[in-house]
Amino acid sequence: MIGLLEAFSQNYAQARVKFLSAAANAGLAVQSLVHPLQGIEGEELAIDVALDGDANAKKMLIVSSGCHGVEGYCGSGVQVFALHDAEWRDKARAQGVAVLYLHALNPYGFAWASRTTHENVDLNRNFGPHGQPAPGNSAYAPLHALLVPELWPPATENVAAIAQQMRLVGLKAFQTAVTSGQNAFADGLFYAGTAPCWSNLSVRALLRQHASRAQRLGWIDLHTGLGPNGIGERIYAGRYDAQAFARAAAWWSGGSTPVTNSFDGSSVSAVLSGQMVNAVFDEAPQAEFTGIALEYGTLPGPEVLQALRADQWLRRHPQASAAQAAALRLQVRDAFYVDTDPWKGQVISQARQAMFQAVDGLAATP
Ligand SMILES: [Zn+2]
Repeated sequence: MIGLLEAFSQNYAQARVKFLSAAANAGLAVQSLVHPLQGIEGEELAIDVALDGDANAKKMLIVSSGCHGVEGYCGSGVQVFALHDAEWRDKARAQGVAVLYLHALNPYGFAWASRTTHENVDLNRNFGPHGQPAPGNSAYAPLHALLVPELWPPATENVAAIAQQMRLVGLKAFQTAVTSGQNAFADGLFYAGTAPCWSNLSVRALLRQHASRAQRLGWIDLHTGLGPNGIGERIYAGRYDAQAFARAAAWWSGGSTPVTNSFDGSSVSAVLSGQMVNAVFDEAPQAEFTGIALEYGTLPGPEVLQALRADQWLRRHPQASAAQAAALRLQVRDAFYVDTDPWKGQVISQARQAMFQAVDGLAATP
C-alpha cells in the first residue's frame, strides 16, 4: 500500500515512472508500445501495459487511463494505487479475474497537456465507421469558427456570440453539437478523424493480444472533465443493448452513483459516436462485454470548454510565446486534474469501489 497522494503525478514522465515501478513492485512485466513522437521534455512516450493474472483467464477486467491525454493524471493515479493495493490484488486473484492495466492510451496528449492525440483526434470518437460523416458534423459546422477563433483570449464579440448560440439552441443541444464528434474540421474540437489513429490501432492490437480468450470482459475507462467536482459518474459504455446495460447497472448501481446512460439522457455526457469500447466488438467478439466510463467532475462546464478552446488555439498557433504556451497548458491541465488532496481521495475511493464491484460482477454466474 502507498499513500494515495503518492500515487498521483505532476507530469506524464513522472506518471510513467510511477506506473512502471508500481508494476515492478507487484512483480509484473510491462509491455510498452512506444509512440512515434516525444514528450514536452523530450521524454519517450508509450502506452504501458501490465497484466495482473493469468493470460488465459476467462474473466478479465481492463482498467485504462489517458484515453483523453491530459485526463490521464486521474487514471494514472488510480492505476498506480491499485498496483500497490494488496487487498485489491488479492480480491481479483481470489475471484479468478485477470486485471489488464492500460496506462496512457493517448500518451502524447498526456505529456503535452492536451485532450486529443498528436493527430488532433478525440480518441473516444475515433472508433466509428471511417469515411462516413460523423453524426455531429451538421450541428458543429456553424459553431466551428466561433469555437476556434484566430485571437486568444477571444474578443468580447466572440464571447457574446457563443453565449447567444447557447441561448438559441439550449445548453444540452449546444453540448451535443460541440462534443458528440465531427470529422469535417481537422483543426476543430472533438475531431473524430477520418482513419484509425495511432492509439486506436494500438488499443485494437492490445485487445487482440490480451482479451481474445476472455469469456467475460469488463472495462473501466477513467475520464475527467464532466459533472460535479469529485463525483465519479458511472457512464454506461457499450452498444445500445438493454441486456448489457442491465448488467452494467446490476454490477455498479449499488455504488456511490447510479449507472447512467447517454441514450436516455440520464448521463451528463451527450450521445457519442465512435467510442473506444466499440473496438471490443471487433477484436474480442467472443466476450460478454460490460463497461463504463468513470467520469470525474473537475471544474464547471464553461471553464472546461474554455480550456479545450485554448488547447485547440495552441495547436493552431505553434508560434505562440513560450510563456503563453505554458500558461495555456496549465489551464488545460487544471481543467482536467484537480490537484488537491480531497479530490484525489474521492477519485481513489470511488474507483476502488467500482473495481471491486466489477470483479464481483465478472465472478458471478451469468
Ligand atoms: Zn474523457
